Amino acid sequence: MPSGVTFTPAPPIEGKKFVCKRCKRVYAYPEPGDRPIRCECGWWYVNDGGGIRETYYQRIEPYRTPRDLNRLFRR
Ligand SMILES: [Zn+2]
Repeated sequence: MPSGVTFTPAPPIEGKKFVCKRCKRVYAYPEPGDRPIRCECGWWYVNDGGGIRETYYQRIEPYRTPRDLNRLFRR
């Protein structure tokens, strides 16, 4: 069995990286004053100068996901 590379590395991001805690997507690290990272999973991350601030925005207002959705589908 060949012991080659088993995954394709993602293209490198310059400088520091920021990884979304919820979905593990990788972004360039936001500097103070930068525009917020708007992650696909709905969380926004912005550097307010004292650290990363996290905010959850619902993408589509009328549709609400129950907080216990994960629990509902867990076996
Ligand atoms: Zn995310």
